[in-house]
Amino acid sequence: MSNIEGRNSANHIEKEEEWILIFEKQLDRINRIVRIERPSAEGPLAAGEKNPVNPVDPVKKIKIESIPYPSGHLKFHTDFAASPLKARSIKLDKELIAELLSAGIRVPASITGRKGGAGPAEGRAFLLNDLAVNIPIAAAYVAHSPFELRSQGEGYILLKNGTEIGPIAIVPEPHFYQGQTADGIGYGQIALLHGKDCLATTVNQRCVHWQTGQNCKFCGTEISLNNGRTIATKRPAQLVEVARHAQKRDGVTHVVLTSGTGDPPGSEIPDLARCTEAIKKATGLPVHVQFIPPEDLDLLDVLFAAGVDTVGIHIESFDSQILARLAPAKAAIGMQRYERAWKKAVALFGPNQVSSFLIAGLGESPASIVRGSEVLADMGVYPFVVPFRPIPGSGMQHNLPPDARTMTRICAAVARILKKKELAASLCKAGCVFCGACSALPAFESRPASLTCHSVRTEGEKTEAYAIRHEVFVKEQKLFEETDVDEKDALGTLLVAKKRSAIIGTVRIYPAGDTENGHWIGGRLAVRRGHRVSMAGALLVKEAMKRVKKKGCTRFTARVQESNVSFFKKLGWKPVGPLENYVNRPHQLMEADLTQVPEDF
Ligand code: SF4
Repeated sequence: MSNIEGRNSANHIEKEEEWILIFEKQLDRINRIVRIERPSAEGPLAAGEKNPVNPVDPVKKIKIESIPYPSGHLKFHTDFAASPLKARSIKLDKELIAELLSAGIRVPASITGRKGGAGPAEGRAFLLNDLAVNIPIAAAYVAHSPFELRSQGEGYILLKNGTEIGPIAIVPEPHFYQGQTADGIGYGQIALLHGKDCLATTVNQRCVHWQTGQNCKFCGTEISLNNGRTIATKRPAQLVEVARHAQKRDGVTHVVLTSGTGDPPGSEIPDLARCTEAIKKATGLPVHVQFIPPEDLDLLDVLFAAGVDTVGIHIESFDSQILARLAPAKAAIGMQRYERAWKKAVALFGPNQVSSFLIAGLGESPASIVRGSEVLADMGVYPFVVPFRPIPGSGMQHNLPPDARTMTRICAAVARILKKKELAASLCKAGCVFCGACSALPAFESRPASLTCHSVRTEGEKTEAYAIRHEVFVKEQKLFEETDVDEKDALGTLLVAKKRSAIIGTVRIYPAGDTENGHWIGGRLAVRRGHRVSMAGALLVKEAMKRVKKKGCTRFTARVQESNVSFFKKLGWKPVGPLENYVNRPHQLMEADLTQVPEDF
């Protein structure tokens, strides 16, 4: 017997029970246990009995040894040595996930999945080892997929071009789909299971942009409603009923609430807040909410006050022409409002807790996705890059997903950005990024770098950056008597360097007069004492160069102290003119060689 500890998704477990467990280890994510029951009325499975829905997984009699263990954790005893999963596992690599998401799997006719809808349209959630991946199975293009699901013994195997790759399991239909409300609405019309443990719903299934023909061409929100698969409005009490059931019987661990745009736009946000409040009060589950940035950004405070844990504000594409053609209502909002909303959301909910879908395969260039991802990541917004999936009946129903090779290149480039910007899916508390079933990106991630650099994201970070400048320029070098903060700080951007999440350095960049003239100025480069051999200074200067170049800068200058001239020369900067006296010290005007800024993609 071996001891296994896990975070249990169900909050209320009263005594010993029989469980079928799947151990989840999403790459470097924390382990979780998902409870799965026989989807029939035959009662729980006996120890040693095979799960008819997911026979690859072992059925074990699990004794709960202590409750809770510690703070919400439970301790289990089971014999995993005999686990067929341990004996047979699939060789799981990131490219395989990208391929499956793009091509889909051909499955026997007896296996059905989700019809239409948004997100994981025409797909089904599978488990590759312990990782949930929502793979297309029903779309027409899947007929050409090299992947095939075949029954073998009591389980399934995945084949590629007829060659066996390894075992694969299907996430069974959840128990809560059998339930219905007192007024006869099926729980499955109110919310769905996404991935393996995410309860997802569209609170308001109507969208004002469908009435005006300005709806996103890739969207299926009102199609699901017209097909009778869902109801127009989900009330808080209905969602509480379903969420309680799904949490207790199916081990749901988080909730996604999205909505069509209200009339007037933004009016859907108080509804999302009310539903969140009710679900959290009844279940304590973390809730992710998705919305279009409202004109009145105070509505984000309403969501925060309601207890929303994470938010998704989806731009979908950074290609303005594509956006105008395929998502005209989003394009009309304008990038400035999106930026203000992302920044405010990060300030409220924190870095890593705000995300934006970027749909690959809308006709944009991969480089635009990577560039957009960097813009988002710098703000602390997780760019959730997903392959486009055609929804039957939508304006793009005949388009195809992007090919896996393109997705692999994009995900690899975006993962490198995440690493440098201290973002990771595993740090997200709830929602699509936490679920991860629709994107290969989390599989491409590696640990955040120990030294990272980005714009200040919160008031706390700004205060810390100013404190470092004060230490260096006021106290240590005595260049300024009281403060080094001046009117230039309001003009530009403040960057920070972090070592293992602690801010250790900063630099500022701002335009010299009119941004149109292409001249930007860098300054106030300061690294905390004790970290001056950490490369933080070089990282800040390189990031500043990259940033101004992206803003269209053609001339980037800085006035540096005489003792720092050789440091800047090593980074490719050249002196311009003679030494000059500035704040009572000799300074050298220097200019960066922006041709040395590497391309991202
Ligand atoms: S990633 Fe989002 S859309 Fe996809 S299955 Fe998970 S919750 Fe649903």
